[in-house]
Formats: sequence, C-alpha cells, structure tokens
Amino acid sequence: MPLPLLPVLALCPSPAPNPAVQVEVLSAGFVHDDWKRVVDDGSAGPVSLPLLVGVIHHGDDLVLVDAGLGLTTRDGSYPGFPLTALGDMEVPPGAAMVERLDRAPDLVLMTHLHYDHVGGLYDFPGIEVWTTREDWRTYGGGALGFPRSLKQAVNWVPQDLRAGAASQVLGRPALDVFGDQSVWYLSLPGHTPGAAAVLVRAEDGPWLFIGDTAWVDRHLEGARRPAVVRALIDADPRQVAEGLAWAADLRACPGLRVVAGHEPSLAEGLPSSPQP
Ligand SMILES: [Zn+2]
Repeated sequence: MPLPLLPVLALCPSPAPNPAVQVEVLSAGFVHDDWKRVVDDGSAGPVSLPLLVGVIHHGDDLVLVDAGLGLTTRDGSYPGFPLTALGDMEVPPGAAMVERLDRAPDLVLMTHLHYDHVGGLYDFPGIEVWTTREDWRTYGGGALGFPRSLKQAVNWVPQDLRAGAASQVLGRPALDVFGDQSVWYLSLPGHTPGAAAVLVRAEDGPWLFIGDTAWVDRHLEGARRPAVVRALIDADPRQVAEGLAWAADLRACPGLRVVAGHEPSLAEGLPSSPQP
C-alpha cells in the first residue's frame, strides 16, 4: 500500500546540489531476454537488459555501485553453466568497466551478490568491495555464480546494516560511506537476504540505486516479476514487495532519480549490439 504523501516527503533526501560529487550510470553489457520473463503485465517481445553500474566521483575518490559483467564473461570463463543457460549475456567490446574507467575504482558498493553484478570485479584484482553481512553469509562461502576465485579476487569488506548497528536514512538502516553524508549504503533486503541500496547526494541532485529490487522502471509502476521468476530468484518475495513500495513512493521526492538495476532506457547511447 502506498504511504501517504506527507510521510514520504518527510523521508526525502535534500535536493540541494552537492558540487563535490558527480554521478553517471553506465552499462557494462546486456542480458538479452524477453519481456514476458521480466514483467507480469502481459508484455512480450525481445528486450536487452543493460547491466547498469553507478559511477560516483567523490572528490578524488572513484566509487562504483555494482560491477556488471566483465572480460571473463566475454572470454567465456564466467559465470559458467548453468547460469549461462539462463540468458544470452553480452559484454560488447569497450563496455566492461575496466575498459571504460581510466583507473581502478577505490571502492565498489554491492547492491547484492548475483553473478551479473559481481563478474566485473575480476577485472580489478585486490580492490575494496563492500557487501552486507547477510549477503556475505549467504554467498561468501560459495554459491552459484560466486566461486572461490571471486572470493579471493578482491578485498571483501562485509558491513553490518542491521537496525541498531547503523544510522537511519530514508527510513532504513544506513552507513555513511565517507562520513560526510554524501554517499549512504542502505539496507534493502528481499531480492537477496542482505540486499542494499545506495543513496548519493550529487551535483545534479540525489540518486538512489536500488539494485534488482526493481529490474526495470515498470516494477516501480505496478508490474512485478512473473510469479515463477519471483519464486526462483527473490530470497523473500514479501520483503521485495515492501522494498518496491518504498522505492516507488520515493519517486515523489523532489529531484530524486531512482535507478532500477536493468532499466533499458538508461542504456541509451551506450555500446550495444542488436540480438542476432
Ligand atoms: Zn541483476
């Protein structure tokens, strides 16, 4: 049920510009699929879902939200069967984050640890990567799409986002990443047991990255993932519904851009190749 407008507005981040921080959204590649497996609103037909990565320039610090897929997917060594059977993945030449950035990021903030968000980490060995304790407990010991080699590739730093162990931002437990209230790492469980969101106060206003709580904007507009897909991939569908309602309500906040994990309209103008 949508919240009344006034309580939502009370949660809203300040729309004031923060000149020290810039945000871009890039696509590290695509999963080619069909709308009928993405939304339950009767749509069908081919769709290329971008692997969206947030790029945050915080002064001299370079921070990513998720990593998409990378060179190991292009060369066929990751993620491996059976995940390769799930969808037609493509990392076009020039699209991997390691090819787009002029240096390795200082930090990556993971919204969750599914394969299509972590694969690009292989291209940045040793960097610091934040996840949540709950997602680390779920995936860090090894899981489909999370082999031991990925555990060893980077410096994983699990964070405690439980209520009481963190501040509250937008009504959720959150950590202030730089201690200056410009970038927040928020608890948004459901899609995975410890899924997270990232709020950024930037030069052009606030941004909220919600990972795969919503794959596409239509999930913020009343459509859901098809029931069979929800049962397969959402750790807690009830929590996902709650998180979706929260994110959908926040779209009323002045200037706030809510970024769904694979929204096709955000891939415009990026390297793409049509499905053969
Ligand atoms: Zn995803």
